[in-house]
Amino acid sequence: MAELEGLEFGKSDFVLLDEVNMEQFMENLKLRFEKARIYTFIGEVVVSVNPYKQMDIYGKEAIDAYRGRELYENPPHLYAVADAAYKAMKRRAKDTCIVISGESGAGKTEASKYIMQYIAAITNPSQRAEVESVKNVLLKSNCVLEAFGNAKTNRNDNSSRFGKYMDINFNFNGDPTGGHINNYLLEKVRIKFNPVIYDLYQIQFYNTRIMNCVSATPQGNLQFETDSESVQVVGSEAVSHIAGLTTTEPDNVTKSLLYRTVATGGGEVIEKGHTEKEACFGRDAFAKALYERLFCWIVARINAVIEVKDYNPVLHGKNTVIGVLDIYGFEIFDNNSFEQFCINYCNEKLQQLFIELILRQEQDEYQREGITWQHIDYFNNQIIVDLVEQPHKGIISVLDEACLTVGKVTDTICLESMDAKLRQHPHYTSRKLTPSDKTMEFHRDFRIRHYAGDVTYSVEGFLDKNKDPLFQDFKRLMYNSSNPVLKEMWPDGQLSITEVTKRPLTAATLFKNSIVALVDKLGCKEPYYVRCIKPNEMKSPVLFDDARCQHQVAYLGLLENVRVRRAGFAYRQPYARFLQRYKMTCEYTWPNHLMETDREAVEAIVTQHGFQDDVAYGHTKLFVRTPRSLFTLEQERAAL
Ligand code: ATP
Ligand code: MG
Repeated sequence: MAELEGLEFGKSDFVLLDEVNMEQFMENLKLRFEKARIYTFIGEVVVSVNPYKQMDIYGKEAIDAYRGRELYENPPHLYAVADAAYKAMKRRAKDTCIVISGESGAGKTEASKYIMQYIAAITNPSQRAEVESVKNVLLKSNCVLEAFGNAKTNRNDNSSRFGKYMDINFNFNGDPTGGHINNYLLEKVRIKFNPVIYDLYQIQFYNTRIMNCVSATPQGNLQFETDSESVQVVGSEAVSHIAGLTTTEPDNVTKSLLYRTVATGGGEVIEKGHTEKEACFGRDAFAKALYERLFCWIVARINAVIEVKDYNPVLHGKNTVIGVLDIYGFEIFDNNSFEQFCINYCNEKLQQLFIELILRQEQDEYQREGITWQHIDYFNNQIIVDLVEQPHKGIISVLDEACLTVGKVTDTICLESMDAKLRQHPHYTSRKLTPSDKTMEFHRDFRIRHYAGDVTYSVEGFLDKNKDPLFQDFKRLMYNSSNPVLKEMWPDGQLSITEVTKRPLTAATLFKNSIVALVDKLGCKEPYYVRCIKPNEMKSPVLFDDARCQHQVAYLGLLENVRVRRAGFAYRQPYARFLQRYKMTCEYTWPNHLMETDREAVEAIVTQHGFQDDVAYGHTKLFVRTPRSLFTLEQERAAL
């Protein structure tokens, strides 16, 4: 709770609202945005509203003001959270993480950059060259990833089309020693639909070892035609272009585009010509795979450079970590497909972790301070997580089963299996199960009641996107490229068709596995949260679109967050600090401290103001249940 700002800027912590309801929450959020106060706390969580203009709040002066201070000593800021995460890591040798969420354009990536810059600014005061060089690479890796993984969309001019989790490692001095990046669900769909994008990926990527040029993906104008006998590529230029870029033979490129090698039941290997539709499908899958492998390869190269080297825990002490997660928030569009399904599942997982960790953290603190824990009632979204991921029963499992079934399984048939398996589930429905609901279409839509709201998904394309298949012929083509870097990206291309017996894991299962691993990683760290809100669709610094903002507040679960925070003790402070701030409001503590201990002095202040029923006395801190008590105190202090 930042006490230093006046009330004309609204309440700097949402736990101080008179009542927790949407109306009051929105009123405060809007007032603060209008007064250029873009950050507001919910306890230790920072809510951020994208200002869409340059703010003079990130400079050296601000860094100095936040460095080493407690959260409530300064107005809400990303730096306060970054410093809290850093302090916990350095002083208590805790691994910490900062989870940044929000919808596209809400300011997640900018926030993650400010946080990284802050950490870079407060570390390595002695300017040791090797630490400076690590910091430099960590900060600059972002530019490379943005160059390859960001794109202009109609929601954000510089939209990250991948989720990113970065661990920063620190030595016992609290200086960065290296890091590691994980990327999630790179969006490839635009590689297929937008021909303009194809040119974008004729990227020349120079590797300093071998100065070799890796270039990617096929041209948008690569078309097929069917003559009387078979399918052909239209013109030869596109093929030569691809062969040139990938250092392969044009004939081999053509062959991979038009045929696939299959093993017959009798163990014979034959070449089967594609239909025009299959050829188009193969081409698009190839383009997407090239892009994805290039991106993953770049991440792997960065990781090789920033990996912690020569670290000896015996000599150097515990190697601690701060993780920074910049990941897409809930997506609810007019048309929601497989991508939204994955993203929203990821958010259910993160929400679960959030509730679990925040509650756990509270519980730990109460225990440490010897205060009785009060049970908090909250919506446990495990039931929705199960709906998606449960083995044999969940949606992913039904999808995977449909993908593995030999024969013609369509999206609609898959929807029928989901209906049959999940009809009893309270968070699942479809038009067939609720025929009166005209907002859904028969044979196409299903709906999940997410913790953040209802989302209707269209199953169209789910199976193809989940299978995400790439003919082995393309993999072999790339493995046989004379460009060693391309070869390195396609190790599975060395398998012959008879060796490729195992079905690859589906996209949904791969995604699920990566998110489970991410949640495990985050789960053993002390979490800090930044919740980003996009004020309007026009990228305007003055427009606060009430309906859009309210929607985001709802699906970020912010009201619930305030309630959880207030259900226990909304506010806590070490006795000495509390005394320092409020001693002038009580005759026993001002002008002279008449009590023996700080705790007794605090008890005197509390009793004099009549809110003794609203507090608990911990070993080192005072806990206040409702913020109103404190507010009275704050007003009295201001009036003196
Ligand atoms: P996506 O999910 O699409 O990647 P995002 O949440 O990462 O979106 P950003 O790219 O961080 O969004 O922000 C979008 C734009 O908003 C930025 O390019 C910048 O113009 C503006 N912006 C965001 N945060 C700030 C800030 N703190 N100060 C000034 N401008 C900002
Ligand atoms: Mg981003």
